[in-house]
Amino acid sequence: MDVSHIFERLNEAQRNAVSSPPGPLLILAGAGSGKTRVLTYRVAWLAQVLEISPLSVMAVTFTNKAAQEMRGRIEEILGYPVGGMWMGTFHGIAHRLLRAHWREAGLSQGFQILDSDDQLRMIRRTLKQLDLDEGYWPPRSIQWFINGHKEEGRRPQHIPEAHDTQQRQLSRIYETYEELCQRFGLVDFTELLLRAFELLKNNELLRARYQQRFQHILVDEFQDTNAIQYEWLRLLAQQHRNIFVVGDDDQSIYAWRGARIENILQFEKDFPGTMVLRLEQNYRSTSTILAAANAVIDHNKGRLGKSLWTDGDDGEPVRLYAAFNEVDEARFVVDRIRAWVEAGQRRSEAAILYRSNAQSRVFEEILMDVAMPYRVYGGLRFFERAEIKDALAYLRLVASRQDDPSFERVVNVPTRGIGNKTLEQVREYARVNQATLWDAALALIHSHELTARSTQALSRFVKLINEINAQTTGLSLVDQTDIMLRQSGLIDYYRKGQGEKAETRVENLEELVNATRNFLHDPDDGMDVLSAFLTHAALEAGDSQAKEWEDCVQLMSLHSAKGLEFPLVFLTGMEEGLFPHQRSLQEPGRLEEERRLCYVGMTRAMRQLYVTYAEVRRLHGREAYTSPSRFFGEIPSELIEEVRGGFAVRPSRKADVPAIDDDPGNGMRLGDHVRHRKFGDGVVLSIEGRGQYTRVQVNFEAVGSKWLVLAYADLQSL
Ligand code: ATP
Ligand code: MG
Repeated sequence: MDVSHIFERLNEAQRNAVSSPPGPLLILAGAGSGKTRVLTYRVAWLAQVLEISPLSVMAVTFTNKAAQEMRGRIEEILGYPVGGMWMGTFHGIAHRLLRAHWREAGLSQGFQILDSDDQLRMIRRTLKQLDLDEGYWPPRSIQWFINGHKEEGRRPQHIPEAHDTQQRQLSRIYETYEELCQRFGLVDFTELLLRAFELLKNNELLRARYQQRFQHILVDEFQDTNAIQYEWLRLLAQQHRNIFVVGDDDQSIYAWRGARIENILQFEKDFPGTMVLRLEQNYRSTSTILAAANAVIDHNKGRLGKSLWTDGDDGEPVRLYAAFNEVDEARFVVDRIRAWVEAGQRRSEAAILYRSNAQSRVFEEILMDVAMPYRVYGGLRFFERAEIKDALAYLRLVASRQDDPSFERVVNVPTRGIGNKTLEQVREYARVNQATLWDAALALIHSHELTARSTQALSRFVKLINEINAQTTGLSLVDQTDIMLRQSGLIDYYRKGQGEKAETRVENLEELVNATRNFLHDPDDGMDVLSAFLTHAALEAGDSQAKEWEDCVQLMSLHSAKGLEFPLVFLTGMEEGLFPHQRSLQEPGRLEEERRLCYVGMTRAMRQLYVTYAEVRRLHGREAYTSPSRFFGEIPSELIEEVRGGFAVRPSRKADVPAIDDDPGNGMRLGDHVRHRKFGDGVVLSIEGRGQYTRVQVNFEAVGSKWLVLAYADLQSL
């Protein structure tokens, strides 16, 4: 058999890995050494050389995007489609399994997925039910408690009875939360994993069937598997032991979410005879970038140790920019990207990475100012935006009246006179009668226990949902969405809102219609198109927000950048307390995890790497002086070049917006008293930029300090 097309772009170590005999194999190798590539080629090898059907292969990737890319690559190598192959994230695969076997898994057929927000809402409801005060029992800590146990595979009954009353109470909350989720057919993210695990563990027949079916299991980013994922893999691979995992201990960045680096060591114990391979050549970065990244990660103690080299060029130095504040930082970055694009490069080759999702907003603002298309992955996700969640909640409720979180979300959005008191009654009725909110509402409408006004308002809501259901049954997804948006009054509600924000919301809702139009439904997954779309929205949030075909700048958190690569990378917000993150400064192991995150960030860069920080930063509503991240000091100084400030964003020559004035402050001066239509009176703190890009920082009496684009702010001098 001619395998040259598989082998031609692999080095020797990679070839050995791709063509290794079946059996347990662990590749432990640094960033950019071709781990993901080897995994992809391995699937092609299995299909072509060992003649294994792609249906017998399961490949676990880190993101849905990675799965898509891998599928594309495999099809390219093989020359035929591999549609039926199980390829995706742990969550995605677990979900698919549960949909196929909902009954065996003890779920209702139409079970819905709770994202993190929905889960918090359910937790609040649980607290209510138990008559516990949120002040004493912060929902976020409870979420952490519940998910932590689930990640370790522990149900409430597995938690040892504690002496401590607080611990006992937590277990009780967990238990009640589970009962509620079960009753209403709701499954949170971690539950997907745990259920899928239990499904195989407790059901011998199914287990045998899937052990048989998946003759080969491949896992990317193995260092970030948690206990339950690992156990699940072990169950599946136990018989044939054909399990091929790749990872890098230096890139383990999810310990805070239960990932266990120890799984790498455990693997060799659980699968005796494991072949361990190393890949040492980095194909991604210039030698300068690689040397800088290696120097940083070298400061970590608990490492398995490996070497990584490249025969790439030295390339350019790592560039450091000390911004005076976060706006200056964002402008610097955007200006550099603009120069990059003007030099004929693509926008999508540039990535802005940050430690905390909240940082994206300023970048987004500046990018919007200069009309440069961008895309945010993760974090401020499209599907997590309030208006989109409202719309999805309507769709979910129409699809399943059991869906309590959705009921809660939209019963009074847009406002229809259903007050808190009425809702309390509905909740109380539901609690006492163990009913869904929907059924409780129906019962109360008929019971005459509510005031006439409340009864009327509630009936209108019930009628509305039923009507939308009747009108949309059998229609295409895009028509269903369109009708729902109009009938529910959502779009009008947001349209009536004031200002730019309302406009964006309406645009987002319109974009949702686009998203449903472009949604590709795989009829094999056993779901109707609406459920498939809702699942997609819950699982793949963010992946479909921007138009795929548009060339745009990439914005994402360091966590979601894992596995990706970009010619031009900006590592921003490198300040003590932000990166490394505040929390990590208090807990010992956490600082090393932050450093690994830094290593992940730096090794995303192929040709140019910028590292930036702001001397003053406003974050979470407070402005503070910062000190530069310790990670700077860990990069050898000969590899770094500081880019000096004193530079300003030039207005784009191509901009077609008329410049307002050539005077930078448009006549405005520091210390001027001004009035804003919405924010009231304030004092000008700083002025930046020129012409149409002039921005002013105003400290408003009522709302604190804000940055405004002068051309749009309509400030009145006092
Ligand atoms: P990470 O640890 O960041 O996930 P990785 O080890 O998975 O990295 P890949 O993403 O597979 O690395 O590869 C990094 C880059 O190097 C990719 O652009 C890939 O196409 C390229 N590459 C890998 N191996 C070779 C090779 N033998 N020849 C040329 N390019 C290669
Ligand atoms: Mg990879």
